[in-house]
Amino acid sequence: MKLVVMKFGGTSVEDASAIRRTADIVAGRVAHGLQPVVIVSAMARVTDQLLNAAAAAGRGDKSSALAASVALRARHHQAASELIPAGELAPISAFIDEHFDALDELLRGLAAVGEVTPRTTDIVASYGERLSSRIVTAAFLACGIAASHLDARDCIITDAQHMKAIPQDELIAERLREHVLPLAQAGRVAVLGGFIGSTPEGVTTTLGRGGSDFSAALVGGGLHAESIEIWTDVNGIMTTDPRICPDALRVRTISFDEASELAYFGAKVLHPATILPAVEKNIPVLVLNSRDAQNEGTRITALAPHCRSPFKSIAAKKRLTIIDIVANRMLMAHGYLKAVFEVFDRHKCPVDMVSTSEVSVSLTVDSNERLPEIAADLRKFADVKYEGRKALICMVGENIRGQNGIAAQVFGALRHINLRMISQGASEINMSFMIEEDDVEEAIRSLHSVFFADPDPSIFDLEARAEAQAAGGKR
Ligand code: ADP
Ligand code: ASP
Ligand code: MG
Repeated sequence: MKLVVMKFGGTSVEDASAIRRTADIVAGRVAHGLQPVVIVSAMARVTDQLLNAAAAAGRGDKSSALAASVALRARHHQAASELIPAGELAPISAFIDEHFDALDELLRGLAAVGEVTPRTTDIVASYGERLSSRIVTAAFLACGIAASHLDARDCIITDAQHMKAIPQDELIAERLREHVLPLAQAGRVAVLGGFIGSTPEGVTTTLGRGGSDFSAALVGGGLHAESIEIWTDVNGIMTTDPRICPDALRVRTISFDEASELAYFGAKVLHPATILPAVEKNIPVLVLNSRDAQNEGTRITALAPHCRSPFKSIAAKKRLTIIDIVANRMLMAHGYLKAVFEVFDRHKCPVDMVSTSEVSVSLTVDSNERLPEIAADLRKFADVKYEGRKALICMVGENIRGQNGIAAQVFGALRHINLRMISQGASEINMSFMIEEDDVEEAIRSLHSVFFADPDPSIFDLEARAEAQAAGGKR
């Protein structure tokens, strides 16, 4: 059995026509003798709307919370009624209504108490994937695919860190063998919602925003799949976010290390935790476009093939804060850095980038509501200043090492931009620097035009650029 895990993001299930395209793609894999296991996100923007509804309820604004739920209920019914023949619609309609009735009851409760906790937030957020996975299963059946719906919470077992739960790999592998494997062996396509899980006691959790990619990798890893396919709305991993730079090129092949570095430093196309379960089992990951299923996408593999261009891609992470810590007494005495990092550790605040001089340490963190407490603790032994609205630009490529003059080219491209901190990571495959958030778009476009003017055609898809230029020329 050639098992392939196929994950479809929000835009690939956003409405009836997207779900039909998804069904065609899955049917194509089945026709080629593969055995898909399908993971779906919530329909596009649904998670945002659910989280907004939870927040409104927490503020006591019951009417906004319920209004959001009314709109979502209608959208799910609409998709279901367009996809499923009238004679088979009743059980799906009942499923949708039961779920929205329960959601409304929860939102009323939260509004009455005027409080949401991470635990209740997870319950509200989970409805998106619980509903989309059920509707997609019914749509697959209507298209003649032998599909079975599974509640992902029976398989993806996590700890109780709500909104960013940590998966428990062994329990997951056991549950997958129990619930998913028998379906696959019987030739049925199991359909599960991504993003959601539960504790061993059955309390609903989520894996963090964008977590359906992570679910796919967990299922692929747990079942030793042949490959994991991440279906999204772009042609693959691109040389930068195509929304910022329409000139971005598809990267044909990228290494696990490069892809995880990019994901960690902000390339939204993959969740940062996606790669690890695949790396551990050496399972190739493909990023593909559900709107252009013939496009060969990006293949993520253990080793990077030779590439003459220094960088593969440029990512940006916004909403960061720079903290400058100046020693007021000890002047970098022995144990000083340890004391600094202990403060971040105590507040469970991860640090992205660090630079030190004789008397000061500068570091960057995700903007975080605990900053005043962190600063207060640091001020016990240092002068502290912090400034938000910063962004990190991260340029990734296995080829940076050993190439002379790259830093000079980077600084040349960014002459007009104020660089705050610079680092070439210990991994030697990334070069990063901090800038003002407002400068991100400009910086990325400048860097892209310098470093992808003459890219290596064996690694980057230049045909799409040539076609676009030809089309532009004809207009
Ligand atoms: P999905 O809902 O399918 O998970 P996401 O919105 O999470 O999709 O991720 C896809 C988006 O990631 C793209 O539409 C694109 O704007 C953005 N993106 C950011 N960086 C990159 C990159 N380097 N390559 C491709 N897409 C990127
Ligand atoms: N629906 C979730 C989110 O929007 C998970 C995902 O789409 O990957 O964050
Ligand atoms: Mg995503």
